[in-house]
Order: sequence, then C-alpha cells, then structure tokens
Amino acid sequence: MDLNDIYTEVIVEHSRSVKNKRVIENPDLVLEGINPSCGDEIKIAVKISNGIIQDAAFTGSGCAISLASASIMTDMMHGKTLKEAQELISIFLGMIKREITDDALLEILGEAIVLKNISNMPARVKCAVLAWHTLQEAIRQEIE
Ligand SMILES: [Zn+2]
Repeated sequence: MDLNDIYTEVIVEHSRSVKNKRVIENPDLVLEGINPSCGDEIKIAVKISNGIIQDAAFTGSGCAISLASASIMTDMMHGKTLKEAQELISIFLGMIKREITDDALLEILGEAIVLKNISNMPARVKCAVLAWHTLQEAIRQEIE
C-alpha cells in the first residue's frame, strides 16, 4: 500500500463517520460556504470563549472530500486561538495551492496532510478548501 492509498483511506473513513457534524447552540461565528461546481453546502459554526475556540462543528451536505475536509478541520480547531486558526488555515491553503511544500512546515496540519494530493485533482480542490475558506472568512468578518 503506498502513501496515496493510505491518504485515500483516511478521507473515506472521515467521510463515512464525520466528526463534529452537528448544530452548535448560539455560535459566536457561523457562516455557510457553497461550492456550486460540486454542490457542496457546508455551514461552519464556532463557539469562542476567552479568545479560544471551544467548539467547532458543521452542518450541511457535500461530497466525500468536502465532508472529510470539514470533519478534519473542525476537529483541529478545538482549543486554538483565532490567530492560530488563521495560521493553520493559511498553511492548509498554501499546501493545496502547492505554495508550501516543506513537509516540516506542513507537519503542524496533522491529519489534514491527507488532503495534500487533492492538489493533483483541480476539479476537487474547491471541495477540499470549502470548509477552510468558510472559517477563514468567518474569522475575518469577526476580527474586522
Ligand atoms: Zn465536492
């Protein structure tokens, strides 16, 4: 089994049993992201306390890649400050755009590294970045 197979397996596993797919009552941040080219519609909700993300979850529907990506992202955001969240998002987007290729730098992404090979499939890139772009925009609106 090569690395690509393992990555695919993690994506399939996440899309079958997504984490954090639920409603958050009274979220501090909430924003819906839509990817019309595939039909993915994912709403990200975040609970913040003392500047730290206490809870992150999503609702909506989408393809396996968009759901796996939202599952992995919301999992990763627990306990992060908004600034840390922004950094993680920009590293993730940099990885997908192949602007960041240094594995040592990408290590911080943990499980999200499994989505790296999506950059080889241009049609699926929007699916992979949807949740991340949506949270990035929600944080930007909150900070400005
Ligand atoms: Zn999709």
